[in-house]
Amino acid sequence: MKAVVFEQFNTFPTLKEVPEPTPGSGEVLLKVAGAGCCHSDVSVFQDYTPETGSHTKPPFILGHETTGWVEEVGPDVTGFKKGDAYIVYGPTGCGHCPHCVAGQENYCSSAATNKSLALGLGRDGGMAEYMTVPARNLVPLGDADPIGAAPLADAALTPYHAIRAAMPHLNGGGKYALVIGLGGLGQIAIQILHALTGATVIATDTKPEALAKAEAKGAIPVMSDEHQVENIRKITHGEGVDAAFDFVGVAPTIAAAQASGGPGSRVTVVGIAGGKAEYDWYSKPWEQELLGVYWGSIPELYDVANMYRHGQIQTEIETYSLDNALDAYHKLVDNKLSARAVVVP
Ligand code: NAD
Ligand code: ZN
Repeated sequence: MKAVVFEQFNTFPTLKEVPEPTPGSGEVLLKVAGAGCCHSDVSVFQDYTPETGSHTKPPFILGHETTGWVEEVGPDVTGFKKGDAYIVYGPTGCGHCPHCVAGQENYCSSAATNKSLALGLGRDGGMAEYMTVPARNLVPLGDADPIGAAPLADAALTPYHAIRAAMPHLNGGGKYALVIGLGGLGQIAIQILHALTGATVIATDTKPEALAKAEAKGAIPVMSDEHQVENIRKITHGEGVDAAFDFVGVAPTIAAAQASGGPGSRVTVVGIAGGKAEYDWYSKPWEQELLGVYWGSIPELYDVANMYRHGQIQTEIETYSLDNALDAYHKLVDNKLSARAVVVP
């Protein structure tokens, strides 16, 4: 079968012929419906080194936002029917630590010694015709469109987790939420904020097209430039936002998120761009929290799949055949995509 393979650190992936996988004990073979291109893949093949990428050691097939139909079940697996559609929960924890048994394989206690980080990150993912998945990593999609659902596995699950964790800051009337970076994750974050909270959403990006899309979703657009903090503070009548979510993660966006917050606000950095924050312990905004998050849990992916089925989250995608998958990655690197790229084998 054809697959998009990450073969070497600091090297663009290749499209190549690889053997079709067979499901092992406890696994299911999926016929891939869709595999989303996430910006994190760019860090994996462009930035990581053998030291920083020890859990995403090449070679492996990329694709950690995957949906598909059951093709075959491996030994010791029951309860799956050929042709049923599922979304893949990516993180591959040990399965038995306190975090894994709670469905938080993203925060597995044995992460340092696990063989891979996730399906498509250190272990073969979904940029191929078929992939094998541990049965416990499969969340049913019912009759929802599986191709449109592919980005939910990360582009919805990660903001969903970040927003739910910030709910104490957004509970109540008259709250403001700030979303920085309106790509795959940011556009879905706006929809989740509207579904879960009554907050007014302010959205910033450097691309006018991304701002227009956010505005169409009911957010107040603010150009990400040197006046953005001032503009955000004006919108919030000088108070600042209650929760900010940074889907870029460079030092200037983190600083903008901090400076846009009000007293007791929360800044969640989701973007992986190596940005460092400065935190002055004796200055405004008082009692501001600053934290980083990584992906989400299996129960949260069930919630996300239900939100999609109920129409609370819609994905915007552009589809690519496997033959054109590398074009999608080129566009992602160059920030030229206008919707989430989904590879449809
Ligand atoms: P994307 O490429 O689809 O979107 C990024 C958006 O940010 C684009 O619209 C771009 O124009 C905008 N942007 C870039 N620089 C900006 C700036 N200075 N100010 C405002 N906007 C700016 O990326 P994505 O797939 O949505 O991923 C977003 C980030 O989240 C990436 O860094 C990715 O690696 C990270 N990520 C983190 C996790 C996690 O668990 N923490 C999970 C998935 C993705
Ligand atoms: Zn574990």
